[in-house]
Amino acid sequence: MRYYNKFSEYLKKKYGCRVHKIPVYAGFFCPNLDGSLSFKGCIYCNNYAFSPSLRNEETLQKQIEKGIEYGKKRFKAEKFIVYFQPYSNTYGNINELKIKYDVVKKFSSEIVGISIATRPDCIDQEKLNLIESYSDDYEVWIEYGLQSIHNKTLKLINRNHTYSDFLKAFETTKKRKIKICVHVIIGLPEESEENILETAKECGRLKIDGIKIHPIHILKNTELEKIYNEGKFKPFEMEEYIKILVNFLSFLHPDTIIHRLSADCDRKYLVAPEWLFQKQKILNLLEEKMKKENIYQGKNYKGN
Ligand code: SF4
Repeated sequence: MRYYNKFSEYLKKKYGCRVHKIPVYAGFFCPNLDGSLSFKGCIYCNNYAFSPSLRNEETLQKQIEKGIEYGKKRFKAEKFIVYFQPYSNTYGNINELKIKYDVVKKFSSEIVGISIATRPDCIDQEKLNLIESYSDDYEVWIEYGLQSIHNKTLKLINRNHTYSDFLKAFETTKKRKIKICVHVIIGLPEESEENILETAKECGRLKIDGIKIHPIHILKNTELEKIYNEGKFKPFEMEEYIKILVNFLSFLHPDTIIHRLSADCDRKYLVAPEWLFQKQKILNLLEEKMKKENIYQGKNYKGN
């Protein structure tokens, strides 16, 4: 029994081999950090902790070359997706974007995809035209950071965009040959289980192509760390996360591809929870629970 639609299996089926995602730092920044929207950023944000590529000062070409070498050696991968990961990778002028994305063209057909992580308020028709232009030769994903559909939460975590900003970006993007992956965080401050599952139902209703779900984690040098140290916020225990995650998956469309269900970060930046690094255990417990309770992705999906 397949309890949820795994990205790795989707890639294996489509390309007939292991596909490795290469995170690259292309030198973009974020309007929520450079003062355009705020200097503070999202309360949980520490890009140094969650993007290993950020510490990379090599050219994009070099980063991709090294990523290919590493993926072949470490994972026996044969195909690759270049992942523009840290900050907001559509935050720049169109010429800059084109120069940076075009670097993938210097590589052979080993590169089968491009994945671009960004904020939903950092996109427009011109940028989407450019991104879509790669879809004749590559599988193209855009990853929108949403985190929650609740404006109260988005305000609290200082996202500086609203749910309607996301919907606008989503509707404009979905008309194109671009796959949409949505980032969601489970366990944000002041969100109840019901609030979290409302986000799941919306993700189901929208039939998003892909989703990344992360448990909230507290990183050093963030606003959330201060709140945590003051005793005003506590992240979920692993069991609580898994319980909500099972229900979350049940509300998604059965075809939505699950890119991630855990989070990565540099160990030296993590404040809590300690269980964050037990990624395999999280996945094992999740599947056990789904099996035991006969819950699977899409079980509670209601359609429009
Ligand atoms: S949008 Fe992303 S990069 Fe910008 S502050 Fe928020 S988490 Fe950090």
